[in-house]
Amino acid sequence: MNASEARRWMERFFAAFDREQQALTDLDRRSGDGDFGANLRSALNRARTALATADTATPGDVFDVVSTAFLNTGGTSGPLFGMWFRHLAKATRAETVGVAELARGFADATATVQRLGGAKPGDKTMVDAMVPAAEALTAASVGAPGDLPEALTAAAAAARSGADATAGLLARRGRASYVGEVARGVLDPGAVTVALLTEAACS
Ligand code: ADP
Ligand code: MG
Repeated sequence: MNASEARRWMERFFAAFDREQQALTDLDRRSGDGDFGANLRSALNRARTALATADTATPGDVFDVVSTAFLNTGGTSGPLFGMWFRHLAKATRAETVGVAELARGFADATATVQRLGGAKPGDKTMVDAMVPAAEALTAASVGAPGDLPEALTAAAAAARSGADATAGLLARRGRASYVGEVARGVLDPGAVTVALLTEAACS
């Protein structure tokens, strides 16, 4: 993956978000306060605008621009996604990156989100999709040098099943934990966003 492929990944993510914004807002309305779609929209609009004029020589430069856009966004999700992208950027500052760099980036980024937010898998947060995606990339990076599209496809499937499983969980972190059983049956919007993000990498 080079910088222009990373840009195309982000553009597919922006487009997927545009399609799903209303659904994500509805999920946050049923399990939180309903601002998730708006928070994400302002981050992604800022990222889109900044990328239009940014010089990006490496995938890491692209992810860094996206990180800054998220860090300037409100809600709980803005700073957490911002730090996630910041750590992905750190691991991908080479002209081209492969499975190993992305695996390390996803792992470091996810560990940072867990450290900052205190969520573990099963707490019904974005972490429920991040951890399986990172694990799938790590599994693809050991042994023979893996094929990147194949590894990303596995990561996307893992993120999506992690996100799907959040419906059955009782939230132990974030605003959804205040409403308890009311949010049972509702997908976590942060985890769904991570699924959209990783799916955009291989679509
Ligand atoms: P807020 O709850 O402040 O309104 P947002 O609506 O921006 O935040 O984001 C909600 C999302 O943030 C949730 O769907 C969940 O994925 C994620 N989230 C909330 N708390 C945590 C946490 N402690 N760790 C990781 N992710 C979290
Ligand atoms: Mg919210």
